[in-house]
Amino acid sequence: METIVIVGGGAGGLELATRLGDSIGAGGHAKIVLVDRSPTHFWKPLLHTVASGKLDPQVHQLDYSEQAANHHFHFMCGEVLRIDRGSRTVEIGPYHIDGIDGIGGIEGGAEVLPQRRVRYDKLVLACGAITNFFHIPGAAEHSLTLDSVHDAESFRKRFLASCMKASLRRAESGAARADAAVNIVIVGGGATGVELAAELRHTVRTLAQYKVHSLDPVRDVRIRIIERGDRLLPQLNPRLSRRAARYLRALGIEVCASTTVARVDADAVHDAAGERHASDMTVWAAGVEAPDLCLSLRLPVNRLKQVAVSPSLQTVGDPGVFALGDCSSYVCPVNGTALPPRAQVAHQQAVFLAEVLSRRQEGPLPAFQYRDYGSLVSLSEYSTVGSLMGNLTGSVHVEGWLARVLYRSLYRLHQRALFGALRTGLLVVADTLTRPTRPRTKLH
Ligand SMILES: Cc1cc2nc3c(=O)[nH]c(=O)nc-3n(C[C@H](O)[C@H](O)[C@H](O)COP(=O)(O)OP(=O)(O)OC[C@H]3O[C@@H](n4cnc5c(N)ncnc54)[C@H](O)[C@@H]3O)c2cc1C
Repeated sequence: METIVIVGGGAGGLELATRLGDSIGAGGHAKIVLVDRSPTHFWKPLLHTVASGKLDPQVHQLDYSEQAANHHFHFMCGEVLRIDRGSRTVEIGPYHIDGIDGIGGIEGGAEVLPQRRVRYDKLVLACGAITNFFHIPGAAEHSLTLDSVHDAESFRKRFLASCMKASLRRAESGAARADAAVNIVIVGGGATGVELAAELRHTVRTLAQYKVHSLDPVRDVRIRIIERGDRLLPQLNPRLSRRAARYLRALGIEVCASTTVARVDADAVHDAAGERHASDMTVWAAGVEAPDLCLSLRLPVNRLKQVAVSPSLQTVGDPGVFALGDCSSYVCPVNGTALPPRAQVAHQQAVFLAEVLSRRQEGPLPAFQYRDYGSLVSLSEYSTVGSLMGNLTGSVHVEGWLARVLYRSLYRLHQRALFGALRTGLLVVADTLTRPTRPRTKLH
């Protein structure tokens, strides 16, 4: 029986493992093995809401082991350290758990699983992307990132602590204080930066309503987005970019377009024109690159370290190794453009590979065809803007409640791919019923 190993259980990898498990795994035609460094899955496009405290990640995490048991695949927990294409083996590092006494307590947690190897007949690389600092001096040392739940939770705790300190200072100095008490600089005016800025403003307003924090939500917490391009949200039509910028400015969020970051210090971001932007917390949301694991395969990669794939999503140089999502570079043969690092790309590629890898007949593999359904950007509770793409209608701009419903449905579609329609429907009902009983902001 052949073994298919999938490295990375994110937006694409987990959907693929679930689909393959349900088809060839359940039929006993292949052994499907999913490897991830974390024991739980969280849908990455929601990370900015974890960072702002709006969403409790515990409520929306999925246990890989349970999913594996329900969908006929195997799960191995641990960081993939190396992939040896010669011997077709994946080397998985030991897995540690923090806070356990009595089991070989070592720094970095107790080792509960040793280093292991798994052999593959076919490999799918789905290890996503990490923040790209573009070698800007100080950026990696002094910026926070949103690459994982851990990053988002660290951000939330620091953000709330800063707001508390600011509130105390405000109480001591009274209204006399003119400067902002907390300066947050978000580098990158793409969807992540814009969505995070709006969510943070919403959280500060909620904190001010709680009265625990005697904050002036706009004056005391200054949020600034720095964008190198001449407008926010370059993936959207310029009219929608302008509308999003207007919404943000109305929320008291400063937008500095056509501004290139030259250096980041612990307390400031310096731009190429020589201006200093005071910053207590700098968030880097300016771009991504593939992790170094992709280089270890010794296959052709692009300048972002993404592994080059053919139209059948096989890596260029090894037909037994496939790649999908953010860690791969698929250049559309029709128009020559590379697909963006988006969840809808990872999802469509997972659906395609589930078909390809469960094929029983020999012969040339089909070609992946990407369909762009458009982009939606959430401005927290204030608005949602975006465009939808249809075969007949072309690009249609959407905004307001309709855009918000469609934006929320993207996560529900991911859940449906993992749990099926019935369980997703029950989750929607449960979420709706419990929302009034949940805190609006996760404080602790
Ligand atoms: C804050 C934020 C907001 C976003 N919003 C949107 C949006 O609105 N719409 C949209 O389309 N896209 C959005 N994106 C992008 C989207 O999240 C990604 O394009 C998508 O998650 C890519 O899926 P993937 O399967 O390639 O990788 P990921 O979902 O990143 O999953 C990669 C998985 O690999 C695992 N992994 C990595 N390295 C290793 C290793 N060495 N060993 C073991 N496991 C490993 C990770 O733990 C992770 O589970 C957003 C991203 C962020 C960060």
